Amino acid sequence: MTYDLRLTTKLCTKEELSLFEHISTAARGLNMHSYLIGGFVRDKILGRPTKDVDVVCDGDGIALAHAVAALLPHKPQVNFFKTFGTAQFRHHGFDVEFVGARKESYTSDSRKPQVEPGTIEDDQLRRDFTINALAISLNEADYGKLIDPFGGIADLENKIIRTPLDPDITFSDDPLRMMRAIRFGNQLGFTIVDSVFDAIKRNKERIRIISQERITDELNKIMATPKPSVGLDLLYKSGLLKEFFPQVVALAGVEIIEGKGHKDNFYHTLQVVDNAAAKSDDLWLRWAALLHDIAKPATKRYEEGHGWTFHGHEVVGERMVPKIFKQLKLPLNEHMKYVAKLVALHLRPISLTKEDITDSAMRRLLFDAGEQLEDLMILCESDITSKNKAKVKRYLENFELVKERLKAVEESDRIRNWQPPIDGEEIMKLFNLQPSREVGVLKTAIREAILDGIIPNNYEAAYKLLLEKAGELNLKPVNT
Ligand code: ATP
Ligand code: MG
Repeated sequence: MTYDLRLTTKLCTKEELSLFEHISTAARGLNMHSYLIGGFVRDKILGRPTKDVDVVCDGDGIALAHAVAALLPHKPQVNFFKTFGTAQFRHHGFDVEFVGARKESYTSDSRKPQVEPGTIEDDQLRRDFTINALAISLNEADYGKLIDPFGGIADLENKIIRTPLDPDITFSDDPLRMMRAIRFGNQLGFTIVDSVFDAIKRNKERIRIISQERITDELNKIMATPKPSVGLDLLYKSGLLKEFFPQVVALAGVEIIEGKGHKDNFYHTLQVVDNAAAKSDDLWLRWAALLHDIAKPATKRYEEGHGWTFHGHEVVGERMVPKIFKQLKLPLNEHMKYVAKLVALHLRPISLTKEDITDSAMRRLLFDAGEQLEDLMILCESDITSKNKAKVKRYLENFELVKERLKAVEESDRIRNWQPPIDGEEIMKLFNLQPSREVGVLKTAIREAILDGIIPNNYEAAYKLLLEKAGELNLKPVNT
């Protein structure tokens, strides 16, 4: 295949073309050569949308950025980092970055490379993968010419991830590139060549020198792909996953006692993540899928004559979520609470598919799941990974019945986002109480009685019950 890489409207928008002309002009004025490079070139050729333009020049990138900005009608503000020699501005929704071509040399005892000015070839050589090392000239002599010293175009065509250098050197120099290899493989649907994958296996322990934030950034990009299992499985098989997320690796494997085995919970989990990803783009719902069975190894028992059980794994799992979020430097905010809640509740809808389920059990789930009910149902449907088609069909049909009943109960009782008719504040006022255990007991008694259908959901009934329960605690209302 040949590519029309001339910088024409076939490849680029008018805005992009005009920006490139300005870069070219500014560079010439400064007696420099300039090139488009990296992800921008790759994504243009692949036809992927991209908003990051990376420019490299054989001179001072900061000076070039200022010169280009001065030529643009809206005179964007240039942000620059003197220590790194990089500069950046925004232009028509693009993030345009400038850097001087550089040569890097690493020593084994330091993460920080020695950096010195270099040629465009030196700069391409320090890039992580051949498909990320493509450059396009913005110079008068060969404007628009593709510079591809490592066969990046062939690798794009053959959908291959390969390193420009010996992969052991590439990965040892900057171990984050191992995560990037797997992430790009997953995102682009490319294959990591065996020699590169073997180098990841050999260098996996080096990932420890990378900050957890950067590792998790890549992990989240994998989680955001349409089929995260591909990347997660490569992380597992390379040994990288065990380095920073051993809890999920502990799900792998099958144990057999008295001829009875349980399913491989790692591959089950990957399937659940993919199923959830097919139904929703929500990153945190995917995290809930990844963590829903996380406590299975910790709760696994073999009960003689009965088989394998994982009693309480949803409760233990809920408690593991904050620890894992902290370890992975994921946000310790409402997203974490959401994931913990879904893990805690992931068996509840299944229990509602049994016969003779009362309305009060339905009300309880509506109350406990609240706003997260739809997501919880997606998680539970995703959790059905049986190979038996008839079984899957039966489970899904049962779920539909549960959904219908939940809907009917919600319509009559309005339990989601519901607050009991008497709250803690009012209880404290009525009995002249300070915040205390008693207040909690009384509040819970009202809520439970309504959820169980013992009293109707109104103020009078709640007040009557409150007086009764308070009497049992020897409390009298102050105003009567
Ligand atoms: P994406 O924007 O989807 O993450 P990208 O390839 O553009 O993909 P960036 O992190 O934006 O990735 O980096 C831009 C370019 O810088 C890359 O294409 C690559 O040439 C180079 N690069 C980035 N990170 C590294 C690294 N760790 N080692 C070597 N080269 C890198
Ligand atoms: Mg980019």
